[in-house]
Amino acid sequence: MSFLQQLDNYPAAPLARRIASCSGTEIDTALACDRVGLEQFACLLAPRISDAQLEQLAARAHRLTTQRFGRTIQLYAPLYLSNECHNGCRYCGFSADNSLPRKTLNRQEIDREAGMLHEQEFRHILLLTGEAPEAAGIGYLESAIRQIRPMFGSIAIEVFPMESDEYQRMVAAGVDGLTLYQETYDRELYSELHPYGPKSDYDFRLTAPERAAAAGFRRVGIGSLLGLGDFLTDTFYTGLHALYLARRFWRTQVTIGFPRIKPAVGGYTPRTEISDRQLTQLICALRLLIPDAGLVLSTRESAELRNNLLPLGITQMSAGSCTAPGGYAGEDHQGEQFSISDHRSPQEFSQQVKSFGYEAVWKDWDCAFLNRAG
Ligand code: SF4
Repeated sequence: MSFLQQLDNYPAAPLARRIASCSGTEIDTALACDRVGLEQFACLLAPRISDAQLEQLAARAHRLTTQRFGRTIQLYAPLYLSNECHNGCRYCGFSADNSLPRKTLNRQEIDREAGMLHEQEFRHILLLTGEAPEAAGIGYLESAIRQIRPMFGSIAIEVFPMESDEYQRMVAAGVDGLTLYQETYDRELYSELHPYGPKSDYDFRLTAPERAAAAGFRRVGIGSLLGLGDFLTDTFYTGLHALYLARRFWRTQVTIGFPRIKPAVGGYTPRTEISDRQLTQLICALRLLIPDAGLVLSTRESAELRNNLLPLGITQMSAGSCTAPGGYAGEDHQGEQFSISDHRSPQEFSQQVKSFGYEAVWKDWDCAFLNRAG
């Protein structure tokens, strides 16, 4: 059964009511559970959680994370290959509706950007594009991946959703990780926010992570863009989706990202504000639901918040990021997708990680282990 069918079993209105109505006693019971299931997860998301209960939740999330992952934070860097896009996502700086300098990196530019990240010690890299197949389609990606593969132990992509055979081509080229956020699981809101372009196909996007896992991706990352809609139901559905993937594709590690909307060209205003306290609660609740999931926090968040969240469940963080194609080598950051909040250099950040008694891991995997990149 695809996740599409499973999602239908959890209609949003009763779910939202359930989360909103969880009592303090039910939250205590959920916190005391050895194994947190979906019912307890809903309670741990409840807005009624007290400060003392949140502290207990955070302490459990910290313990579980150290048991499963040790005191480590894996570092990665995003590399934007292109900002050309035919989609009209209302909240994104790269939307086709916005006027900004458009660019797709050529081979020399890719080499320069990748070389700079390699010099900064990054060995895990995330390649990003918009959705414009004539500028940065499957063939372009394959060639870019093969070009930079010798420099990196792990290459992930955050691009457009693909068909199964296209995902197989990505794996054959040397990709081992996928990030693909559903943005929101609310179908109606999704249609409103994605009014045209291929991304308006909700079902094709929702089923992409399972196609990627079936095609042999070692890591598959999901999440919702926090601030678009009801972040509590969206986080519940993210947990449900992650559980589905983890159970069905046991060879693939599931990761979950927590992007909060940031200011971007186009001036989209988020419908809901998520406070730092609420973000902390979501992260810790997801850690209890899926102890083995990689939890990812990017430089969208401030240095202070990232420092505070580091011990509570996060396992992967980006550092020194730039969200414009060519932005690492160039001085001009025009054409960026959104502005980042943590401006520390990768080395400064890794020192900070060490100062907390954690190890900053630049490389914990090499796709050469798979022996299938041809
Ligand atoms: S979110 Fe992705 S698909 Fe949508 S406009 Fe931005 S780059 Fe294009």
